[in-house]
This record gives sequence, structure tokens and C-alpha cells, in this order.
Amino acid sequence: MNSGAGPKRIENVVVVGGGTAGWMTAAGLASMLGSTGLSVTLVESEAIGIVGVGEATLPHIKFFNDTIGVDEAEFMRATNATFKLGIEFVNWGRKGDSYIHPFGEFGLPNEGVAFHQYWRKFADAPGVGPLEDYSLPVVACRGAKFQPPSDDPRSVLSTYRYAYQFDALKYAPFMRTHAEARGVSRVEGKVVDVVLDGESGDIGSITLEDGQSISGDLFIDCTGFFGLLIEQALQTGYDEWTKWLPCDRAVAVPCEHMGPLLPYTRATAEEAGWRWRIPLQHRTGNGHVYSSAFISDDDAQETLVRNLEGPALADPRLLRFVTGKRRKLWNRNCVAVGLSGGFLEPLESTSIYLIQEGITKLLELFPVDAENNVEREEYNRRMDLEFDRIRDFLILHYHATERDDSEFWNYMRTMNVPDTLKERMELFAATGHVSSYDHGLFLIPSWIAVLIGQRRLPDAYDLRVNQASDSDVAAQLSGLRRHMAKAVASMSGHADYLTKNAMIERAL
Ligand SMILES: Cc1cc2nc3c(=O)[nH]c(=O)nc-3n(C[C@H](O)[C@H](O)[C@H](O)COP(=O)(O)OP(=O)(O)OC[C@H]3O[C@@H](n4cnc5c(N)ncnc54)[C@H](O)[C@@H]3O)c2cc1C
Repeated sequence: MNSGAGPKRIENVVVVGGGTAGWMTAAGLASMLGSTGLSVTLVESEAIGIVGVGEATLPHIKFFNDTIGVDEAEFMRATNATFKLGIEFVNWGRKGDSYIHPFGEFGLPNEGVAFHQYWRKFADAPGVGPLEDYSLPVVACRGAKFQPPSDDPRSVLSTYRYAYQFDALKYAPFMRTHAEARGVSRVEGKVVDVVLDGESGDIGSITLEDGQSISGDLFIDCTGFFGLLIEQALQTGYDEWTKWLPCDRAVAVPCEHMGPLLPYTRATAEEAGWRWRIPLQHRTGNGHVYSSAFISDDDAQETLVRNLEGPALADPRLLRFVTGKRRKLWNRNCVAVGLSGGFLEPLESTSIYLIQEGITKLLELFPVDAENNVEREEYNRRMDLEFDRIRDFLILHYHATERDDSEFWNYMRTMNVPDTLKERMELFAATGHVSSYDHGLFLIPSWIAVLIGQRRLPDAYDLRVNQASDSDVAAQLSGLRRHMAKAVASMSGHADYLTKNAMIERAL
């Protein structure tokens, strides 16, 4: 016990696990709190290895990389990364449909009224065209173009952000070099025991297979699906969301890259799940995420292999998971970051984002007193909100469908969804309005992309649209559409941009 007058400072943080979550956490803590004298130790077992999937990201990762001082070109080369402007969804509303969820705006708001409200009224007017023609990143995706956004807020080239697609096996080692350069100590070894303090119930130390004992003030569980500390030792509990997100397996295989280098991930809906296609510099990542209640492993693998664009580069790998989240992401003196905290399936590339949010919120709420983590409740409240919102957005993709060609789609289309999602869908259906979140994922353009992309056109539009004359608005829309197309035509091709900026490991 601390017998001194003031709070006992956290001096030692022990991160258990060296996957993407572990090394990102270690790098983040050492970069931001290393100067306070905090010591960070990371324990990992090469014999156990990492999950090794997780190749598509969201734009927030650039902020993380920038904050810890990562050089973008070096990172792109080291992880064979490509740029990502959004995700294409194929066959989701109906078979044969395709839309892109972009990392950016649709059009420009006018008189405080969202752009899609004008588009809704004039969608059938001559020269107006589909909503996606008013999203610069979507037009760029369709043309395999890329350049970073402009700093000039008046330019349409400033209306988007970008993320990366990278080799999942290379990002954690890349983070490791950054973390170790900032003073993180790495210990190789398998944790075989977690010792709890009899009095407080907190974790006191971990024991490795070779008998070494490592103690700490705060433990970060980054042991992936094992949940070694948060679950096996602290028995925190897990809220399953499988009734809404029933996909529970994935089979993954890389293949040779064919065709132009696309700046986006593709998610193609299948009979009982969906397939991903992630273009990297040196290969294409592929996977089939499915519900084992609706399709066998053999059939799922056959669907994946049949659809590969080029020769497979490895044997298919099967992964199992249960969608949901740990009841408390922070329990006692243990914070679960990464797959140990939960998994919501990879449809919108949200896992690495949740790792980053876990780290950012931990830094904001870093305990002042090692013996009384009052910050814990607020951390859990904020992380719960992140998970709940992502859950709703993911369910939307499956539920807002007209597909009735398999048992899986019939289930997804007709199931009861959480009230929070139901209310958002009803509001949009009636008025075209999306209520905004103060912060976090996903913002209004994301909801519009999916709802309109999956044929959920609202019954009405914002009445303020009627203030402008019809001919003016239709002319402005078609003018903006031409302007977007022209701006994209001036952008570099995606592969050319990587080459010109020395971001490729070898010639494409
Ligand atoms: C099918 C699938 C597709 C995915 N796609 C995406 C995607 O496109 N985008 C995205 O953002 N995320 C994706 N994810 C999630 C992403 O893979 C993870 O969020 C990310 O890799 C982080 O994993 P992790 O570090 O939590 O766990 P892991 O990579 O499993 O690392 C666990 C670490 O703990 C160590 N460990 C475990 N037990 C012990 C022990 N007893 N002693 C010592 N060390 C131990 C292991 O050695 C390893 O170092 C996907 C996940 C799956 C399953």
C-alpha cells in the first residue's frame, strides 16, 4: 500500500502481446508519456505469433502515425502499402449493385442544407446523375487516381481524407522499431501465469515460461483473441452480438496482383457473408467472412478460391471469432486493447481504428493514482459508445438490403435491429436527415453513402431546398459534377503517385 501523502504515480506499464495492438500501444505510450519517466515493457511470444490479418484501415491512422513521428514514404515502403480512399460495396442492396463508401463529403452544403437533400429532389433532372459523381474520392476511386487532399478549403480537392492498405505482418514490426527507439523494452517469452493481488484483486505480476516474473502498475492486454489477462485472469465477461452480426469465421488467402492498382478496398456480398479484396503493392489480400450457421467451411473456401483474380500465394487460412465486446474494456488495473477487447468483424476496417481510440483515450485518461483508477469508468463509457456506434453501422449494411436469395439474407433483412439503429433508419427514410454524432465514427456522409448506395432513398427531402429556383439548382448540380470530374482528371494515377514519391519497395 502507498503510505505517502499523495497519489502513487504509475511508473511501470506492461503490455502483453506484440501484434498490431501491442506495438501500437507501446509506441503511443512511449512517444507521449516517455518523457515523464514512464517505463514501458512489452512481452510477446514468437512461438504463439500474431493473427496476421488486418490490412485495411481508416483515415485516423494517418493522425496516429504522424503523432508518433512516422515518415509516410518510409512506412509505405516498409509495409508495401497502398492508399485507400474508400470501400466499394458490391451486391449489397441487390445483386449487381455497386457503390463506394468514400472517406469524404458528397458535394458542398448550401444555405446550411446537406447536399444530398438537393440531389434527392433533382436526381432525375438532365445532367445530374448519380450521387457518387459528387464525391471526389469516389470519382478518384473509379479512375484509380490518387493525390493527397489540398490544404485550400475552397477547393473540391480538399473534400476528402485517405487511409492505407498494408501488409498486416509488416506493420507490427514497423511499429516495434519506433517503440524500441523511444525506449520500450521487449521481453520474449510465453506468459503462463497471471498473479492477482490477494487484497485488491488487481494484477500484480505475470510469470513467463522460463520462470521470470514481471510486475507492473498498469497492464495492457494485447493478447488478441486469447484475452489472457482481461478474461482468463480477471473474468471480465463478453457481450456477444452474434444475433446481429452472425459472421463468425473467415478464410483468407493472398494472391498475385492483377490489373490497375486500385486506391480502395472491395467488399463483395456473397450467399452467407462477403469477400474482401485489398490491393497491396506486391500482392492482393483476399478473404471470405461468413456465418458458419449458413455455409460450410468447404463451400466458403471454394467461393473464395474460385473468385481469386490471380494465382494463390499461400494456402488458405481459417480464422474463427465471436462478434461482440468485453463487458469492461478497462477492468481493475488492466486495459484490453485490440482483439482482446472485442471484434466487430472487418467489414468497415474498424479494428485498428478501435486500437487507436483505445490508446488515445488511455493517454487522455491516464491514471493519476496507480491505486485508484478513477479514470476507468469514463474510459469504459467512451469506448462502449464507440463500439455501439460501429456495431449499428455494420448491421445497417446487412439489414438495408433487398436480397432474398439465401437464408442468410432473409435472416439479416428481417431481423430486429437495436433501437438506436432503428430510429436512425426511420428518420432517414422519412426526411433524408441523419442525426450527427459529436465525435467518433461514422459521420453523416458515411451513413448517406450506405443508405443511398443500398437503395434506401428517403420519402421526402428538406423543404428548404424549395427556396432556390429549380433551374438554378439543377444547373449548379451538373456544373459541380463536371467540375469534380475535371479535378479528378488532373490527379495522378495511384501507382504513378507511389512511384514518383519513392513509396514503393520495388517497381510495380
Ligand atoms: C478475418 C479478420 C480480418 C481482419 N481485417 C481487418 C482489417 O481489414 N482492418 C482492421 O483494422 N482490422 C482487421 N482485423 C483485425 C486486426 O487483425 C486486429 O485488430 C489487429 O491485427 C490487432 O490484433 P491484436 O494485436 O489485438 O492481436 P494479435 O495479432 O493476435 O496479437 C496477439 C499477441 O499476443 C501474444 N500473445 C498471446 N498469448 C500470449 C502469451 N501467453 N504469452 C505471450 N504473448 C502472448 C501473441 O504472440 C501476439 O504477439 C481483422 C481480423 C480478422 C480476424
